[in-house]
Amino acid sequence: MDVSTVIEGHRHAVTRHPRVVIVGSGFGGLFAAQALRKAPVDVTLIGRTSHHLFQPLLYQVATGILSEGEIAPATREILRRQENARVVLGEVVDIDLTARTVTSTILGRTTVHPYDELIVAAGAGQSYFGNDRFAEFAPGMKSIDDALELRGRIFGAFELAELATDQAEADRLMTFVVVGAGPTGVEMAGQIAELAHRTLRRDFRNVDPTKARIILLDAAPIVLPSFGEKLGGRARRQLIEIGVEVQLGTMVTDVDADGLEVRDADGQVCRIQAATKIWAAGVQASPLGKVLAEQSGADVDRAGRISVLPDLTLPGHPEVHVVGDMMVLDELPGVAQVAIQGGQYSAEAIARRLAGRQSQGPFRYRDKGSMAMISRFSAVADIGELKFEGFIAWVLWLVVHLFYIVGFKSRITTVLHWAVSFLGRSRSQRVVTQQQVYGRLALEQVGPEFPSSKTWTLHGGASAQGADDHRAGPPSVRRASA
Ligand SMILES: Cc1cc2nc3c(=O)[nH]c(=O)nc-3n(C[C@H](O)[C@H](O)[C@H](O)COP(=O)(O)OP(=O)(O)OC[C@H]3O[C@@H](n4cnc5c(N)ncnc54)[C@H](O)[C@@H]3O)c2cc1C
Repeated sequence: MDVSTVIEGHRHAVTRHPRVVIVGSGFGGLFAAQALRKAPVDVTLIGRTSHHLFQPLLYQVATGILSEGEIAPATREILRRQENARVVLGEVVDIDLTARTVTSTILGRTTVHPYDELIVAAGAGQSYFGNDRFAEFAPGMKSIDDALELRGRIFGAFELAELATDQAEADRLMTFVVVGAGPTGVEMAGQIAELAHRTLRRDFRNVDPTKARIILLDAAPIVLPSFGEKLGGRARRQLIEIGVEVQLGTMVTDVDADGLEVRDADGQVCRIQAATKIWAAGVQASPLGKVLAEQSGADVDRAGRISVLPDLTLPGHPEVHVVGDMMVLDELPGVAQVAIQGGQYSAEAIARRLAGRQSQGPFRYRDKGSMAMISRFSAVADIGELKFEGFIAWVLWLVVHLFYIVGFKSRITTVLHWAVSFLGRSRSQRVVTQQQVYGRLALEQVGPEFPSSKTWTLHGGASAQGADDHRAGPPSVRRASA
């Protein structure tokens, strides 16, 4: 055993209750922990970050509307009153289904956590569809680090354009390309357009930000495919109205520092000169899915998601529950509600089993609808049979997002910052630091102990090509020498 390895339970007083270990402090993990607050169990929630992240608003951090604290409250603070729960910071590097242990590590300190019930909710990261080299030039948007880096790149591009000595250079700096016309890409493109055309309108002397090009491109023939053709078509028109160029049926074939190469619907290859590229296409599930699959015999799909039984457990392991973006069941979408409801369902299943009560039957997802904001006062919402667009959809969007933001103080400051941006023209969060812009690439130089967020490399794992490797073969997850 590694000298720095600690087996939980040896260090702490002997636990009185069954131990529930939860991996991940995202939607699935946090809501599962909260749903267990009255159960006679000891909950240990292990997260690789000390915060819960409200991913749907990452693009507002990237475009200077919200601060990172508003969408990422400390997990420890959220659970401070839940006495049966404790929070552990660390990256889970191994799960042993036979020994019933989870191994986490942080800065060389390894901890083995025994469990009676396990909920794995480690989510999904960005996928570049086998082209991980694109990540250097086209960051994705999965973490606070990603959003702050993008903020630096977006605002920094205008600053450099102000200094440009020729028009071609200024044009390249003021061209922003968002790859992926799903909700994230649409919202991001809409907000960059509002930033350039409204907020920054009067801030520069040598360049005119209203002339900035914002290009949204996707290989699919429609915008927001999951919303259907009608709402997707309306979203596309609204985007064009606010100055976004929408290029559909267009595939990215290469990305570099100065721009990207695309193949359009007619098969024509052309180049777009653009300093800022944002990747909002494709997800790759946590490599922990493969770790679980190898031991349980469950299947893993191309996106790395593990197949679960109808009750969200693994074959032969009724004590192991997998929820959210890293599991696949009945083509459920990778959205927050699937993770939240899955976490709550698994918590209820555990409480029932421990109380000797009958099981609740298979997991049934209640679709509460989807929404995407296009610009201020304009959104689309698809709620069952009801389709909304424009101002009504935008108000619905505000209310729903406010409801799900965790924490009273976050709600108040979020409303204030929305007022600044949507009623006024300003952005409250325009601070950009060197760390934000260069931190991710610098961390990669430090070594595998400090993986950047762009890939799924786990501690002790592979290099920046990690996401690719995980797609092709087993993840680089180190088995702890416990
Ligand atoms: C930019 C963006 C916008 C989105 N917009 C919407 C939207 O508008 N509506 C919607 O419904 N959904 C949206 N989604 C999707 C939604 O956020 C996800 O479906 C949801 O977060 C999935 O929850 P989860 O618990 O499975 O994973 P996550 O919320 O991603 O949580 C995973 C957690 O596991 C932790 N973790 C991962 N690996 C490890 C490890 N090895 N050890 C320890 N901890 C680990 C992570 O740090 C994280 O805390 C969006 C996603 C993104 C990225």
